Amino acid sequence: MSVERRKFLKLAGLTAIGVAGGLSAKALAQEAGLVDTAAATVGDTAETPSSPLRAKRWAMVIDVKKCREAGNCTECQKACHLVHNVPEFDNPKDEVKWIWREPFGNAFHDQEHEHLPEDVKHTMTPVLCNHCDNPPCVRVCPTQATWKREQDGIVMMDWHRCIGCRYCVAACPYGSRSFNWRDPRPHIKKIQADFPTRTRGVVEKCTFCEERLVRGQLPACVTACKAGAMKIGDLEDPDSEVRKLLAERFSVRRKPALGTQPEVYYVL
Ligand code: SF4
Ligand code: SF4
Repeated sequence: MSVERRKFLKLAGLTAIGVAGGLSAKALAQEAGLVDTAAATVGDTAETPSSPLRAKRWAMVIDVKKCREAGNCTECQKACHLVHNVPEFDNPKDEVKWIWREPFGNAFHDQEHEHLPEDVKHTMTPVLCNHCDNPPCVRVCPTQATWKREQDGIVMMDWHRCIGCRYCVAACPYGSRSFNWRDPRPHIKKIQADFPTRTRGVVEKCTFCEERLVRGQLPACVTACKAGAMKIGDLEDPDSEVRKLLAERFSVRRKPALGTQPEVYYVL
């Protein structure tokens, strides 16, 4: 019997016992060792409401200064990759990433100049899918496996519809899409039972944690950032935190000349 099948049967058995005993599905999964406690509690903060979080246009603002002051930590990436079952491969060619870090000078070539302070140039800056308003990745997909959601602008993925042609990978100018060259499942440190795993031959990327927003939780990266460097909110709401940050601070977006209209902003 495979390990995955054994785990499934263990969870099914515990579920039957737990339902009788009044335990929650999450508690059962933790009990079974299928859900990492840290991952299960990402976002379970007192400030997190339980009704869905909604926006007319989701956008993210990242405070690069706070990242620098926090010592360029990796908490956002660790939390995201943990809750989304992102595999870890030894060979960088196989790498799958939803959020990662680039030195500011790499992420913002067009902002670099010889007088930029060294600490700014080398600030490790979180980068992810920009949920572009004008996403070239969506235009090239022949199967509509990726699309921009009408109601809130999130650029979504349906792994079941993806045929692995990688047109979208080529079309994204930010390197925000990863292709599963190998079966990712044996390379996931601890599988999270409440999020699907992917298979070899499909593309994946950040989806602004749409599965958490609908449960009333902030994205894993936002919650994990102890420095408060990452904010998400409604760009169409003038009273939202993201709009206030953009009104008060100087902000930049990646590769604005391409016309993709990224909805991830960086304040300096
Ligand atoms: S960053 Fe790349 S993958 Fe994300 S919406 Fe824009 S073009 Fe598509
Ligand atoms: S790799 Fe998948 S998501 Fe990307 S363009 Fe092809 S079918 Fe669409």
